[in-house]
Amino acid sequence: MDNRDIKQFKNVWVFAEQRNGILTPVVIELLGEGRKLANEIGVELCAILGGYNVDGLADELIRFGADKVYYANNELLKNYTTDGYTKIIIEAVEEFKPEIILIGATHIGRDLAPRVASNLNTGLTADCTKLEIDPEDKKLKQTRPAFGGNIMATIVCPERRPQMSTVRPGVMDKAVEDADHKGEIIKLNTKLTKSDIRTEVVEIVKTKKDLISLTDAEFIISGGLGIKNADGFKLLQKLADRLGGTIGASRAAVDAGWIDHSRQVGQTGTTVKPKVYVACGISGAIQHLAGMQNSDIIIAINTNENAPIFEVADYGIVGDVYDVVPKLIELLDDDKRLVDLFNSNRIDVSQLQ
Ligand SMILES: Cc1cc2nc3c(=O)[nH]c(=O)nc-3n(C[C@H](O)[C@H](O)[C@H](O)COP(=O)(O)OP(=O)(O)OC[C@H]3O[C@@H](n4cnc5c(N)ncnc54)[C@H](O)[C@@H]3O)c2cc1C
Repeated sequence: MDNRDIKQFKNVWVFAEQRNGILTPVVIELLGEGRKLANEIGVELCAILGGYNVDGLADELIRFGADKVYYANNELLKNYTTDGYTKIIIEAVEEFKPEIILIGATHIGRDLAPRVASNLNTGLTADCTKLEIDPEDKKLKQTRPAFGGNIMATIVCPERRPQMSTVRPGVMDKAVEDADHKGEIIKLNTKLTKSDIRTEVVEIVKTKKDLISLTDAEFIISGGLGIKNADGFKLLQKLADRLGGTIGASRAAVDAGWIDHSRQVGQTGTTVKPKVYVACGISGAIQHLAGMQNSDIIIAINTNENAPIFEVADYGIVGDVYDVVPKLIELLDDDKRLVDLFNSNRIDVSQLQ
């Protein structure tokens, strides 16, 4: 395959990562983003699916917008292995020649994508937070935070195909399910054999954390150093329960040992895009903002009115978390007043009396 003959390459592909027969949530986000890119270029959106007897997922991918699903059904693909999945993707790329491949930047995706890219001798941009098509030449502009989030780098892969990106979960808008969307399932006859796979999965162990996913939550109440101690999260949990949301944290709160790392929002934690993000006692360091600034509504509660978090907040409350949060919980029983209060852009805590 001459991957410099870029005219031979067509269509946008999404890697349909699945675990135990369930698509990882980022796949639906990639289908949402992939649809936009495919429409802008004027090509088809396809998914590549590997697994063992996961036919239902091929249909699900079509309902979420895939025009074609390339499906490798093989017992050797039951569990993820770098060798097995790299091989099926390379075989399919050589046969069907996609111009773009999007892979979720999950643990699996971050393992798979560089292996595939180096085998195909093409470019890969890791952990992208924004993708666009250049209107001039239809090439993919891939943007990712670099140098500790201090600059945003936009990267193109001008001469080789496919253009490959891993995409940060929680950033792109999800595809909308449409039961009427029609697509084609193309079964792949992979040459994969047992000797291709050099790793053996002995056991898969799940940690016993509570699994309310930060990326799926519509309301996130996050605590930083300003909540002073681990008990502060109990108060935030009350507000989260009142809203049907979940708890997040800054890295400083995680480093202080108040809460598990799985709750950390930011550049080295999870990126979130809830309907409402409430930052309680969080200063708004750039590395924290990198993980939450695309939330639909940001509410900041901070004693320091000059805290940088107020620059990204839609609603700012200057006050002590321990005064404000209990009042918010009370006021939530009286939605009208809360909405009025939030309509003024910066609220002094005295207004909450
Ligand atoms: C490479 C790198 C990666 C990083 N990745 C991340 C990341 O993923 N996520 C992340 O969050 N950080 C990350 N950081 C750390 C980041 O730079 C900040 O140190 C961190 O976000 C600060 O957390 P904070 O806002 O909780 O604490 P602080 O910056 O100490 O802010 C505490 C805030 O609480 C306010 N406050 C104090 N008391 C109260 C009170 N009673 N009521 C209300 N407000 C009060 C203060 O005014 C202050 O604004 C990273 C740093 C580096 C160098």
